[in-house]
Amino acid sequence: MTELTCIVCPRGCSLRVDGEGDSITVTGNACKRGEAFAVSEMLHPMRTICTTVRTSFPDAPVLPVRVSAEIPKDRIFDVMREIKKVTLTKPVARGETVIENVLGLSVNVISESDLLLHEKREG
Ligand code: SF4
Repeated sequence: MTELTCIVCPRGCSLRVDGEGDSITVTGNACKRGEAFAVSEMLHPMRTICTTVRTSFPDAPVLPVRVSAEIPKDRIFDVMREIKKVTLTKPVARGETVIENVLGLSVNVISESDLLLHEKREG
């Protein structure tokens, strides 16, 4: 038996998961999305990342970024390492790609802000 808190909506139902593989049963969920979350969490947990990336702009030294879709939970630290390698030297708009297809996961790291659009390039 595994206990989980559903993170799909703010209600945060306490889920109980019994069984494994094809015979998982979920209780405690107030809706079907909770069951889907619990099954996914048991079989292939996924997460999103919201963080920041360094820039070369003194007035905006970091830019908020996120992944464009969820990634496997066990790749979070690998993706964070890739994000930490980047220093943006050109302005990017909100939604623009900062890292394309990060680590071959078919997910981009994208800008969450227009913060840099008003910055002048260094040098
Ligand atoms: S089970 Fe449904 S109602 Fe409960 S937290 Fe998950 S999504 Fe929300």
